[in-house]
Amino acid sequence: MSDAITLDKASLREQFVFPTNTGVGGTRAVNGDGPCTYLCGNSLGLLSKTAESRVQREFHAWGAQAVMGHFSHVEGTSWLNMTDDVDPILAELVGAKPSEVACMSTLTANLHLMLNSFYKPTSERFKILCEGKAFPSDQYAFASQAQSHGFNPKEAVLELFPREGEYVLREEDILEVIQKQGSTIAVVIFSGIQYYTGQWFPMKSITKAAKDQGCICGWDLAHAIGNVPMSLHDWDVDFAVWCTYKYLNSGPGGIAGLFVHEKWDDRELPKYAGWWGNDRATRFEMRPTFSPIRGAQGFQQSNPSTLCIAALYGSLQLFQQAGMMPALRKRSLALTGHLESLLLKSSFYVPPSQVASRSDKKPAFTIITPNDPEARGSQLSLKFLPDTIMVPVFDGLKSFGVIGDERNPDVIRLAPAPIYNTFEDCEVAARSLEEAFNSLS
Ligand SMILES: *Cc1c(COP(=O)(O)O)cnc(C)c1O
Repeated sequence: MSDAITLDKASLREQFVFPTNTGVGGTRAVNGDGPCTYLCGNSLGLLSKTAESRVQREFHAWGAQAVMGHFSHVEGTSWLNMTDDVDPILAELVGAKPSEVACMSTLTANLHLMLNSFYKPTSERFKILCEGKAFPSDQYAFASQAQSHGFNPKEAVLELFPREGEYVLREEDILEVIQKQGSTIAVVIFSGIQYYTGQWFPMKSITKAAKDQGCICGWDLAHAIGNVPMSLHDWDVDFAVWCTYKYLNSGPGGIAGLFVHEKWDDRELPKYAGWWGNDRATRFEMRPTFSPIRGAQGFQQSNPSTLCIAALYGSLQLFQQAGMMPALRKRSLALTGHLESLLLKSSFYVPPSQVASRSDKKPAFTIITPNDPEARGSQLSLKFLPDTIMVPVFDGLKSFGVIGDERNPDVIRLAPAPIYNTFEDCEVAARSLEEAFNSLS
C-alpha cells in the first residue's frame, strides 16, 4: 500500500468540509464524531474552504460596492467578466477550447436550449436515440422536445436497453443501432457516465458512428465532468451540457455549463438570444438588435449568479492544484479499483453473471458497474438481492457514518471522489457493508 499512501498524500482532503458522523446519523461510526465517510460526490460534492471564502468575497464586494461591482471589484474579477475565471478550466476538463464552453444557467434548461438549437426533426429523420433509463429529467426533456415538434415520443424517442440478464449496454449494440437506423435519427444523446449503473459510454466511438450517419451528437456530462477525461473538440461532438454540483463541488443547484463545437460558429444555429449572449463591447449600449458573441458564449441569456460562479471557481482552483484530470483520473482509478477489490472479497458478493441462476435466497449483492476501468469513472453501483434488503443495508451503512446514495428499488452507489476521498474511506465503506449485512435480521 505504499503507492496508496503516496497517493493519499496527494489528496486535497484537508481543503474540504466533511459532515461529522453526528450530522449524518452515524451513531455507530468507529471514529466517533469525526468526519463521516462521504462517498456521495457523484450526487453532491463537498463544500471546499476555497469555495466558501470565494463566496464570502462576493458578499463583501456586494456590500462594499453594490452596482459598481459589475465593472470594478474590490478584490477580484468584476462581475461582468466573472465567467472568464471558470470558462478555461471547464474547457480543459471537457477537452474543448475556452470559446466552445459557456458557464450558465442549469443543466436541464441548457439541455432544452441545446435541443432547441440542434434537434431539427424532419419526417424522415426525427428520432432521438438515448439510453433506456436515462436520468428522468433527460427523459422528460427528450419526450417533451419530440412532442413540441409534433411527434409521438413513443415513436420519436428511441431508448436502448441492455441485453436480457445484463446491466449495461454493449458498445457493439449501440453502434449497430446507429448504423442500422441512423438515417431516421436526428440526435444521438447519451450521458457520458450513466447515473444509475456508472457505465462510462465509449464516447469517441459513439460520436463517430453518429457523425458518420449524419446525426447530431450531444452528451449529458452531469456525471462525467470532473470524473473522467474527455476530448469533446477532437471527438467532433456537436454539443454537451453538464451541471457542476456533482464531481465539481459547486454546491446545491450550482451554475451549469454547455459546449458547442466551434465548427458551428458561423452556421445558422438559432441562438435563443438574451443580452448576456450579446457581444460584450456593445452589451451595455442596449441596442435593439442582438449581436451575438461568437461561439458557445453567444448562447448565454441572463447575467449569471456571481455567488454560484464564485463557489464553482473556489472548487476549480483545487482541481488545478490537484493537477486536473490527468492526476485525478490516476488517483480515481486506484481508489475505485481498491474499493472494488475489497468488495469482491466479501462473502456476500455474487458475480453479475450468477445473479439470474441463483437459487439461494441469502442476502447478497452484486456490482452492476462495468469491471473494466475504462468503462467506468469513480462510481460503483451495488445491486442488492433480494431488493428488500437495500434500504436496511443503506441505513446500516449510514449508522457507521458511510454516506453513499440509494436508488430505488435495489441499488446503492458508492463514489470515491479522488479530490477528497482516501483509501481508508474505501476500507471503512467495505467493512461497514460487511457489518450492515451481518446486522440484517
Ligand atoms: C444530476 C442530473 C440531472 C439534474 O438536472 P438539474 O437540471 O441540474 O436539476 C439531469 N440529468 C442528469 C443525467 C443528471 O445526472
